[in-house]
Amino acid sequence: MGPSVRTTCPYCGVGCGVMAKPDGMGGAAIAGDPDHPANFGRLCSKGSALGETLGLEKRLLHPMRLGRNGSYARITWEDALDTIAQSLQRIAHLHGPDALAFYLSGQLLTEDYYVANKLMKGFLGTANVDTNSRLCMASSVAGHRRAFGADTVPGNYQDLDEADLIVLTGSNAAWCHPVLFQRMVKNRKERGAKIIVIDPRRTASADEADLFLQIAPGMDSVLFSALLVAIAERGHIDEAYVTAHTKGLSEALASARLLAPDLATAARQCGLSEKDLNQFIDLWLANEKTVTAWSQGVNQSAQGTDKVEAIINCHLATGRMGRPGLGPLSLTGQPNAMGGREVGGLANMLAAHLQFSSSDIDLVQRFWRAPRMAQKEGLKAVPMFDAIARGDIRALWVMATNPAVSMPRADHVRQAMGQLDLFVVSEVMRSNDTLNSGAHLLLPAAAWGEKDGTVTNSERRISRQRAFLDAPGETRPDWWIVCEVAKRMGFAESFSFASPDEIFAEHAALSGFENDGQRDFDLSGYVASAHNYREMHPFQWPFRKDEKPQERLFANGHFFTADHKATFHALEAPVLKDAPDDAFPLLLNTGRVRDQWHTMTRTGLSPRLSHHLQEPFAALNPADARDYRVTHGGFVRLTSRYGTAVLRADVSDAQRPGEIFAPIHWSAETSSDGRVGALVQPATDCFSGQPELKATAVKIEPVKFQREGFILSRRKITMTEGFWLTHVTLDHAQGIRLATDMTSNQVIAQLDAQCGACEKSEFHDEALGQHRVAYVLNGRLDACLFLSASGKTIEWNGVRELFGKDELSKTDRLILLSGQTGSGLSDTGPVVCACFGVPAPSIDQLIKSGAAKTAEQIGTLLKAGTNCGSCLPELRRMIRQQT
Ligand code: SF4
Repeated sequence: MGPSVRTTCPYCGVGCGVMAKPDGMGGAAIAGDPDHPANFGRLCSKGSALGETLGLEKRLLHPMRLGRNGSYARITWEDALDTIAQSLQRIAHLHGPDALAFYLSGQLLTEDYYVANKLMKGFLGTANVDTNSRLCMASSVAGHRRAFGADTVPGNYQDLDEADLIVLTGSNAAWCHPVLFQRMVKNRKERGAKIIVIDPRRTASADEADLFLQIAPGMDSVLFSALLVAIAERGHIDEAYVTAHTKGLSEALASARLLAPDLATAARQCGLSEKDLNQFIDLWLANEKTVTAWSQGVNQSAQGTDKVEAIINCHLATGRMGRPGLGPLSLTGQPNAMGGREVGGLANMLAAHLQFSSSDIDLVQRFWRAPRMAQKEGLKAVPMFDAIARGDIRALWVMATNPAVSMPRADHVRQAMGQLDLFVVSEVMRSNDTLNSGAHLLLPAAAWGEKDGTVTNSERRISRQRAFLDAPGETRPDWWIVCEVAKRMGFAESFSFASPDEIFAEHAALSGFENDGQRDFDLSGYVASAHNYREMHPFQWPFRKDEKPQERLFANGHFFTADHKATFHALEAPVLKDAPDDAFPLLLNTGRVRDQWHTMTRTGLSPRLSHHLQEPFAALNPADARDYRVTHGGFVRLTSRYGTAVLRADVSDAQRPGEIFAPIHWSAETSSDGRVGALVQPATDCFSGQPELKATAVKIEPVKFQREGFILSRRKITMTEGFWLTHVTLDHAQGIRLATDMTSNQVIAQLDAQCGACEKSEFHDEALGQHRVAYVLNGRLDACLFLSASGKTIEWNGVRELFGKDELSKTDRLILLSGQTGSGLSDTGPVVCACFGVPAPSIDQLIKSGAAKTAEQIGTLLKAGTNCGSCLPELRRMIRQQT
């Protein structure tokens, strides 16, 4: 074991500090960093399982080129880099610089992001650089810039510890920002803070709330307009603050009165009772120390910027800004969405939070000594892929993201990428939907654990990500790859960085260049100090020269607008861009689940994380299930105007009638029909360009298969067309959940062909209507197939345990084929606690027996919830449901 290395979790925007202790064999023991101010030692289920994602089996380790025969062949780095440099030059020469585009990611480190932006915006002369953060928090950026004059998050996480009221709107923080959510719950428990959750779905976060407002989709701005009207009418406007430090209140108030003319109308529009709306307003007015936190439920909307401004309007009107325990707080989705914003990773921003005014362009050009500065904003993600489809953009370089899964109209995006003249993908994994869309060149990127740099979390805190493993094969950090291409294009002088330290130093210097306190993003204190990148402790920006890093902003009412006043904004009436109609009568909402991240290229490698929710699903209300003849656990086809998916039905009263929720994680790599991005409509917010990922009109129909079941196998099994499939990573085997109309014999024939060397046994169980086949090689279970009639889902947990054995006993074989998975092989059901593998039935049993009445008692008896705490909301929900 080597010494522990302090680094940062690569998943959500909480930005937890991690201690990684390499084991000398390519793995590492992972623990929370007790000294990191974001998490003080805590990690959620995803962070705790990072050690299970370090394997090299599926890694891209060498540069590859797509050959004429459709397969990839290994090439040298020299060849790959020369090809990219020459092709970019040729395409720019033939079609102009706007025929080039980069599509980046909030997973990149700040240093990677910085050089990619510098190359495109300063040296190639186009701002066609956008990022998957466009899908994540662009509306917060636009809202901050319009209200504050800069993309500034005023507060910090400590405010969540000190608030008396926490309003979570459009945020299932219990699953998506779990460590931060545990801080909120702690405040509630220890200080009596109240939590209000506003969401169209009853989420795990809602289960912990003192007040849950199950709002109609898209109506957040009506709700906060009702609040703004109440603030004014009940005498809660902070006149001194508003007069001295803001402008535009009367226009904003007039629009709020149009949106929410009275409480009854507002409540009706929001789908809430007047009583609940009033209680929300009363609590908000009664508690000065209020933090309103939001994430994708607010941002991912064609009116996301309005929603952000509706929240900020209320905080400005009451002067609740920049002081301990209060303020608006955007929770970013990705680990370095904020770092991307700082370097200008969005097509409508320049580096260091500068904009596309002529003076800002001039400033950056002089600092970079750039020969060809972009003179205008570039194309944001959705129009960028449209431009690719039209052939206006001919070269695309995708780094560290998977737009073939995550973009709206994902089929259209996949098709568009297939027709590029130059399509480059920098990737950690050897296969994903994007590079499988016809990428010409694959560049092996160093992964988390192998590269150095910095990330910025939701509270403006910059932390180091440190390498603790050697980079395998020919993998290289993204910053190195970009710089090598830049050098080959003739820009060696400006891209001769020897390390990420040097890039960060330039980035910090640019932030302070001709700044004089006029711009929010400023690291000149870092530049002036005897800084030590290697030993850098997490710190917040702005960090101005001769000052300490600033924890909060705007308490003094000094904003970054020309007159230093914050701006209230009048709001438009909310309208869904793709509202349900007769043809597509239901509304599809998309989002994350607790134990997976984005398109599962990393979390999908962890057996522990695979146990929680194994299949792509569609959650729908029992009334809709009845109307559309859908059964819980059956299958449904969702169809929108843009695409289709077939998902497992989860009938649940957590959904409002008329609304469906489906997770975003499954791709063509992990499922046959689970790519939900294919359905999503492309409408975007006019200020932020963020797509409306949470409201697409769809229709639903039940899908019947003749049989369903599973395959567990040590070897890679490939099935032909004609199956609904989901691939699941397990401890000693790969799992495939399947459904099909094929006969049992046709299915078995496919397994036989791939397990030819094995000894085969099979049993048809008339009583249970199951067919079981086992393939044993050298005494060890190699693969098995369980099939049943449609609608009879078979759990595999008991059978799965047999793959942990080096030799099957006679009893094991009997148990396996008879399906009598007793004797320690019982079907244990879905796993609730990922850390200790505690299944739902064991918890249910404990609650039913009366042995556990609290989550803490369950923890004492079964250990569930005692490590990362991510499952605590589910434990409490199970207790509530049974008592
Ligand atoms: Fe990582 Fe979980 Fe912390 Fe997010 S909350 S940074 S996913 S450990």
